[in-house]
Amino acid sequence: MVAIGGQASLAVLYELLREHPDTTRTELVHRSGLSKATVSENIGLLIAHGFLEEVGKRQPGRGRSQVVLEFKPRARLVLGAQFTEHGCHAVLADLRAGPVAFAARPFAGGSPESFVAALVECVDELRPQADVPVLGLGVGVPGLVDPTGRIVAVSVPYGWEQVPIAEMLEDRLGLPTVVANRAKAAALGEAWRGDHDTVAPTHHLAYVYVGAGIVAGFVIDGEPYFGSAGTAGELGHVTVLPDGPRCGCGNRGCLHMLASESAIIRAVRTGARRYADPAQIEGSPLASLAMLTLPALIDVANDGNAIVQEVVRDAGMYLGIAIANLINIMNPSVVVIGGPVMGFGELLLDRVREEVRQRALWDALRGVAIVASTLNDDAGTIGAAALFLKTVDVATFVSPATASSHQ
Ligand SMILES: [Zn+2]
Repeated sequence: MVAIGGQASLAVLYELLREHPDTTRTELVHRSGLSKATVSENIGLLIAHGFLEEVGKRQPGRGRSQVVLEFKPRARLVLGAQFTEHGCHAVLADLRAGPVAFAARPFAGGSPESFVAALVECVDELRPQADVPVLGLGVGVPGLVDPTGRIVAVSVPYGWEQVPIAEMLEDRLGLPTVVANRAKAAALGEAWRGDHDTVAPTHHLAYVYVGAGIVAGFVIDGEPYFGSAGTAGELGHVTVLPDGPRCGCGNRGCLHMLASESAIIRAVRTGARRYADPAQIEGSPLASLAMLTLPALIDVANDGNAIVQEVVRDAGMYLGIAIANLINIMNPSVVVIGGPVMGFGELLLDRVREEVRQRALWDALRGVAIVASTLNDDAGTIGAAALFLKTVDVATFVSPATASSHQ
């Protein structure tokens, strides 16, 4: 038996129930290693507070019939939000981060205050839709967040430094708030809610965001991993081409310079100038090289343009080099790739897989699925809700003293 205190055993059981929402006391005893008495006592508390319900009986083989326990994810709700370059997306979600309702707002300017205002509007729209208490808010931002999840240390897209965003939001909303880099939140979103068709449970997952920046998020043994100072996952600044183009970080040949949105646009420009007869590209979307956008390039690639397709395959090769290294180091069961650049779809993904197959160690590669995000833009929003749920101490809501108020 595991000798842990009352609150700790409650948290262990709560996590197990969240992951296995249809179970029995006997299964919980096996899975948790806790005593029958401890399991029964805590199950009683969770039932009293509406987190669990007894729903019929199950007959395992020739054994005694067992009462089936069903986790009630709608017993409480949480909010998740993510900031993108253009606006705020928020979700009202259940205790398994399942979406109940979404809201979105654009924002003007990039000041922290305009962010807070946009998010407050989203929350004002979502909160009245909650028929049970809302426990708190998780937020994903593009930038480095301190390991306590309170302060955005630096956000290059917004030009923020040391912004106490959690405190600002708590002051306005009166909800406990936790903040993380949005790719790291998205990793948790994919682990909890992504549809990856993998054989193993996604307790070990890497999420790679490829857009204006390239950032990885990790879920290791079911937990989000941030690193000692919160900078884990800066995949955009691993070297994939020694003596390659100089990066803003001071290094040369960073993945960011070879596979990000701006890198792809730059390479298409260079390629079009080098190979194409200007007369041939007259009137094509590549004719105006100064005006190229990623969505336009995705259309052009789908139409079979050889210049763009070659650039995308090159980007896929560099991405594949970085992901092969990541797989060797981390040994995930699934690598999920998301972000705007994944708009190139299989053209990019096939090249990534090909490169990974050539480079990753067979033992690390075995069983790894490399897939496109199925949650797309919602990964960060749903992941932010999951991130908050990770911080919830269920004992705060489930104690004998507070049981009567929820019966
Ligand atoms: Zn760099």
